[in-house]
Amino acid sequence: MTTRRIFLQKAGISTLALSLPYTNTLSAMQTEKEDKILRVAIMGLGSYGTRVAEAMKDCKRAKLVGVVSGTPSKITDWQSKYGIPAKNCYNYETFDQIKDNPDIDVVYMTTPNSLHKPHCLRIAAAGKHVISEKPMALNAAEGREMVAACKKAGVHLLVGYRMHFEPKTLEVVRMQRAGELGETLFFQGLSGFIIGDPTQWRLNRELAGGGSMMDIGIYSVNGTRYMLGEEPIWVTAQESKTDPVKFKEGVDETITFQMGFPSGAMASCLSTYALNNLDKFFLNGTKGFAEMQPSTGYGPIKAWTKNGPIEREHVTHQTVQMDEMAAIMLDGKKPVIPVDGEEGLKDLVIIDAIYEAVKTGEKVMLG
Ligand code: NDP
Repeated sequence: MTTRRIFLQKAGISTLALSLPYTNTLSAMQTEKEDKILRVAIMGLGSYGTRVAEAMKDCKRAKLVGVVSGTPSKITDWQSKYGIPAKNCYNYETFDQIKDNPDIDVVYMTTPNSLHKPHCLRIAAAGKHVISEKPMALNAAEGREMVAACKKAGVHLLVGYRMHFEPKTLEVVRMQRAGELGETLFFQGLSGFIIGDPTQWRLNRELAGGGSMMDIGIYSVNGTRYMLGEEPIWVTAQESKTDPVKFKEGVDETITFQMGFPSGAMASCLSTYALNNLDKFFLNGTKGFAEMQPSTGYGPIKAWTKNGPIEREHVTHQTVQMDEMAAIMLDGKKPVIPVDGEEGLKDLVIIDAIYEAVKTGEKVMLG
């Protein structure tokens, strides 16, 4: 057996999953599993819920069959647009009844952050699988409750980390895990955009749980972990605020943060709601680098190394994500980069530490 294969096995990565393009993997999977389809209800019919619904039209293994919404007019719109029967439509008061609906397997929460935990507990109690959008919850304590509730109910809890299935991201991860970049000792993650409407829920601490860090900085937190393949042991962080009217107490505008890892690797990251065109990952090792820009947007993602660009076909992230999540839930498939509740929780632990480091000015030790 080659060293590479031994390495990949140790890293829990199948050589097949890495060598086949998504479409081939999917068609092979389809032949075997043609009958099993993940039947999905989307909760919160806003901007991202709509994007997921549209992307699911092209799914082979996942199908939109239900909705949970507080807005009756959206329910009727979605019913006619996606052919959703009235028996699969709920609002936030009635959705516990989903327990008696055998035609829905999973509820995908695309609601404001503060609603993820309470709704997850109710979905789990109804015996349905849960997909949560990022951030999974407002903090690690909430995240732990969600993980425990889903475990107790025997249902899956997955997080909508669409980049974990993105082909160029997976190629960089493969190169890093295979040692092709040497010892990767530095990662830089830059995540930001200029946020508009000051009245939106993203700038409301109760609904968002914070500011840019919860919404966009989480991509750098999560990206650091999958790019370096390690968990941080310390965090330092600093905050800057140029508009205290728009970004009230507890709503962060800009945070820089650093992380240290057991190998000696370090990460230096930026999360902001005050600058556009910030969507970049840079991974440097003793033998080479990988750079991605854009690195987490809806794509196409661009990635290159010292050997030139990484070429992979662009795929709609949410289509691949939902097909892969169907394979995880229905077939027990193990993704290359995890997307379960424990994974979501790891990011929340780090975000809690970042906020603590901002508050105290101290280095926060983890683990
Ligand atoms: P939107 O504001 O566009 O939609 C949220 C929807 O949630 C609303 O339309 C509404 O739907 C429902 N809702 C229920 N209660 C409230 C409330 N109190 N205030 C506002 N809306 C409420 O938000 P997004 O779709 O942009 O974001 C939703 C989630 O998805 C967030 O957690 C966000 O972080 C995540 N997200 C993830 C992305 C990714 O790439 N993975 C990208 C964008 C967002 P209804 O009227 O049907 O009840």
